[in-house]
Amino acid sequence: MQYFPVFFDLNGKRCLVVGGGDVAARKVSLLVRAGAEVQVVSPELCESLQGRLANGEIHHEARHFEPADLEACVLIVAATDDQAVNKQVSELAHARCIPVNVVDQPSLCSFIVPSIIDRSPVQVAVSTGGASPVLARLLRARLETLIPAAYGRLAALMNEFRGKVKQQLGDEGKRRRFWEDVAQGPIAEMIFAGKEEAAREAMHHAVDKAEASEGDRGEVYLVGAGPGDPDLLTFRALRLLQQADVIVYDRLVSEEILDMARRDADLVYVGKERDKHTLPQEDINLLLARVAKKGKRVLRLKGGDPFIFGRGGEEIETLMQEGVNFQIVPGITAAAGAASYAGIPLTHRDYAQSVTFVTGHLKDGTMNLNWPALAQPHQTLVVYMGLLGVKTLCTKLMEHGLSADTPMALVQKATTREQKVVIGSLGTMPGLVDKTTIKPPTLIIVGDVVSLHKKLAWFGGAKTVGES
Ligand code: SAH
Repeated sequence: MQYFPVFFDLNGKRCLVVGGGDVAARKVSLLVRAGAEVQVVSPELCESLQGRLANGEIHHEARHFEPADLEACVLIVAATDDQAVNKQVSELAHARCIPVNVVDQPSLCSFIVPSIIDRSPVQVAVSTGGASPVLARLLRARLETLIPAAYGRLAALMNEFRGKVKQQLGDEGKRRRFWEDVAQGPIAEMIFAGKEEAAREAMHHAVDKAEASEGDRGEVYLVGAGPGDPDLLTFRALRLLQQADVIVYDRLVSEEILDMARRDADLVYVGKERDKHTLPQEDINLLLARVAKKGKRVLRLKGGDPFIFGRGGEEIETLMQEGVNFQIVPGITAAAGAASYAGIPLTHRDYAQSVTFVTGHLKDGTMNLNWPALAQPHQTLVVYMGLLGVKTLCTKLMEHGLSADTPMALVQKATTREQKVVIGSLGTMPGLVDKTTIKPPTLIIVGDVVSLHKKLAWFGGAKTVGES
């Protein structure tokens, strides 16, 4: 080991920062978060340090560094742009055995500052021994995605019960297994889902039974996978994908996203292609409940967002009735994905003050929509599941008053490399659809905002056909 990692208790301790620029300000920010008494010595202060001074968060001596400044300090940071000063601070500190960091000059440092993931009381510090701060930052970013934001609250809860668990579970191995179950099971998930009281109750219960038992572990995660590009998953979706035992998915979920699941998870395909429903919805609802009741963590993965034309509500209702624990993770819905990746803002101060999401495929198979409400000026219309009915859509909207040159776009497989955008108008789209091959999943956008596509299209993988 080139360096020995430690965590310093700086609460209420006096620390010296020499320098008043932006670099110094970043270190000051960390020291303040750790509760240190920060003394800044510098003829001038940058704006953010002036703000801290005004808030009473730091002390300031508006002058050059003097050796006496080291007095009574437990830690020193030198961050001036004057080499000689940095060197002098380092030498004086070394001579008095006070830990010193000179920013970006490892040879003058007695300690280095790591990249920090702060979920206090849980903290992770990443260091490359000064070899590459960029690498440390990248690694940190990766870890950030894996460690839920509420990890600190989980640690605090575990700490609360430490004494009680020690009393109840004499055997060390049993105790360890108990804590592992807590950290990876439903109690942790309750914390992450913001149900702190329920988690505390479950802890009491688990401690009394002296086990955070397997049987209670089953639960369902209803997760939105976004429109296709795996980079658009949420951190929470990714984390749950990597811990679920069973993944129940349908046609809209891309292969790349399934690849992110835990290697040994069971993958269950429940289909859903138009009129070729592999499993009826009612059976899916029951399947989720049944598997969870066996103690499995079931992840129901849906394209886009589960609560936007995703029938997530029905699945949750069944889980409620069956008394199965669940949580819902929103995803980026196709409208948001298609709009961004096709460069078509859904609202715009000049063109559209509202946006309506509507399905082109009704329960009874017809397209009986509220046409007068949909054929309104200054609004954007987004039609899900509308490709088959595109001609009816154009006719009906014109019949109800929209002009034939109202701009219209079809966005196929938005956010993926197979994205294709067809641009036309209510008048021309029926003809264009016949001339181009366009496949589901496709989203329809109608309204003046579509004309912005010409200026704003940016996504590299995309192809555009039709007028523009
Ligand atoms: N819950 C999903 C919608 C499911 S309904 C969501 O929030 O996005 C299925 C319809 O969504 C498809 O018929 C299509 O109109 C639209 N859709 C889903 N993913 C899409 C994509 N990548 N590109 C274009 N349309 C998409």
